Amino acid sequence: MTIHQNLIAGEWVGSDAIRNINPSNTDDVVGEYARASVEDTKAAIAAAKAAFPAWSRSGILERHAILRKTADEILARKDELGRLLSREEGKTLAEGIGETVRAGQIFDFFAGECLRLAGEVLPSVRPNIGVEITREPVGVVGIITPWNFPIAIPAWKIAPALCYGNTVVFKPAELVPGCSWAIVDILVRAGLPKGVLNLVMGKGSVVGQTMLDSPDVHAITFTGSTGTGKRVASASVEHNRKYQLEMGGKNPFVVLDDADLTVAVEAAVNSAFFSTGQRCTASSRVIVTEGIHDRFVAAVGERLKSVVVDDALKAGTHIGPVVDESQLKQDTDYIEIGRQEGAKLAFGGELLKRDTPGFYLAPALFTEATNDMRISREEIFGPVAAVIRVKDYEEALAVANHTPFGLSSGIATTSLKHATHFKRNAEAGMVMVNLPTAGVDFHVPFGGRKGSSHGSREQGRYANEFYTTVKTAYTLA
Ligand code: NDP
Repeated sequence: MTIHQNLIAGEWVGSDAIRNINPSNTDDVVGEYARASVEDTKAAIAAAKAAFPAWSRSGILERHAILRKTADEILARKDELGRLLSREEGKTLAEGIGETVRAGQIFDFFAGECLRLAGEVLPSVRPNIGVEITREPVGVVGIITPWNFPIAIPAWKIAPALCYGNTVVFKPAELVPGCSWAIVDILVRAGLPKGVLNLVMGKGSVVGQTMLDSPDVHAITFTGSTGTGKRVASASVEHNRKYQLEMGGKNPFVVLDDADLTVAVEAAVNSAFFSTGQRCTASSRVIVTEGIHDRFVAAVGERLKSVVVDDALKAGTHIGPVVDESQLKQDTDYIEIGRQEGAKLAFGGELLKRDTPGFYLAPALFTEATNDMRISREEIFGPVAAVIRVKDYEEALAVANHTPFGLSSGIATTSLKHATHFKRNAEAGMVMVNLPTAGVDFHVPFGGRKGSSHGSREQGRYANEFYTTVKTAYTLA
């Protein structure tokens, strides 16, 4: 099998490789991918540093053309890349293709942003002096990504980093290197100069840690778990570097008595279980007022009967497998914890056998849960959700906000008054009304509050806050 190598200073290198395994069928090897060492990572950082002066001064048309060509190729190959994504991560083919399209759209968006770089010209408070405010690239940006969105998250970090003139050292999650390798290959063929983007696949404790420890990485953008995020933060404070963190969530989805039951059930099932519940914006806390509670739980149970859990690549599959054995163990451990805490496992939660060996779990719904149980407080990151019964809207809002996290927050209601109040008072970076907590647009800001995020927002025009630094220049006329 050919080894997909790392890209360092424009050269494809590396012979030490690991196998990328399909979670729908563990007999299927997606490919072999190189593992970078500490020395490789240091070489990648040095290459990005050396490439920075020329790239940061490169013309906006050159950057625009590279990002646009990349977008075009990703979109033209959406079926093939979407299939690769589903094969390595386990989300369904429809979800894999959808995520690939989103990655193409993100490159397209930032291709456009290259042509819209702007500053401000202001009069000084002193006579005969002009003031210019411009944005400059930050330098070498370290990009560290998780396994659950193997093409969209790399895209929404790499595209703005390059657009604003930074050079990059990119470390994807070791579990899903395939899509990352593919987009780096596309960017190189689109004309990216040597050293501007360096790919270092491999272990977080080796590659990621070397990036954190390097004084030559000027900014780090990280998406992943809270634990690793804290390491990124403390190492970055040490080096006085800019950092951005997107971490976990425990997103509430509130269902009020006046909700449209069909809308509420679809949004709750999607939020909790689609993409196998492995979305930072998934909802695993469904907070339901007592007037609709029993009807809602019964309707979710009915809806789950028609949900097919199977091989991600099979037509008709709604939910693919869990990403790997250790995540599956985490999910089943939490199901056991929920039982022991006294919640009632109303539906699912059992391991499923399918035609191929994979990590299949029936979506699990607990009822009679309270907000102080561990299943209501800790991120599970799998198809496991808990229903919490509350008296009224006021209690629902209080429970929704009573969490250390603050990424996304949803409500199902037909009341304009409650929808408006919820939008204003939900302690989250993103609020959804009559929509799933997950599923966001690529051209608007993404990010959370409290323990979910740190730093400026990702995506859309707001991305320039992280990937640029502001300069104020004064000139005597
Ligand atoms: P991890 O934090 O384990 O890993 C994220 C990335 O960090 C991986 O590339 C990993 O490498 C790397 N890493 C691990 N250790 C270190 C280290 N010491 N130094 C530097 N980098 C390191 O998260 P998961 O990949 O397991 O992703 C799941 C988690 O991510 C969930 O908790 C989820 O909530 C969160 N997440 C948050 C999102 C958000 O936007 N808020 C979006 C998606 C996920 P390796 O591959 O080797 O482990």
